[in-house]
Amino acid sequence: MPNEAEPKRYAGACLCGNVQWRSSASPGLQFNCYCVDCRKSTGAACLPIMLFKADDVELHGEITYFHSVGGSGNVIRRGFCSHCGAQVVAHVELMPGMLSIRAGTLADITQFEPKANIFVSHAPAWSPPTPGLPSFARLPNSG
Ligand SMILES: [Zn+2]
Ligand SMILES: [Zn+2]
Repeated sequence: MPNEAEPKRYAGACLCGNVQWRSSASPGLQFNCYCVDCRKSTGAACLPIMLFKADDVELHGEITYFHSVGGSGNVIRRGFCSHCGAQVVAHVELMPGMLSIRAGTLADITQFEPKANIFVSHAPAWSPPTPGLPSFARLPNSG
C-alpha cells in the first residue's frame, strides 16, 4: 500500500557529479529568470531556478563561489563545481536562509514546475518566456 505521506524527494548534481544536492522538502518558489546576470553566468537565454530553505538542502562536493552585485544592489554568490564548472547553486543576499538551486541540475528534470517568468523585459526574441505562466517585466511587485 503506497504511503501517501512519503515526501517527494529532490536531488541533483553538476555535469561531472562531484557536486551533489538533495532535499526532502519541496521548493518554496520555482521560476524562470531572464535577467542579464543569469544569462551571462549561464550562457543561456534564461535560468530555471528553485528556491529551497537552505536548512532543507544537503549539499556536497567542491564548490567555487563568485560574487556579483545585482541591479538591486544586493550581492549574489553563485556556486560552480570546482571540477567541471557547472553552476549549481546561489546564495542571494536579498533572500537570507534560502538556497537557490539551478533546476537544470535536477536528476529528474520533470520535477521542475515553474510558476512564473521574471525579468522578461530582457528575454531575447529567439527564446521567448515560457507560455502560460504569469510574466513580470522585472520582479513581482516591483514593476
Ligand atoms: Zn562537476
Ligand atoms: Zn536572474
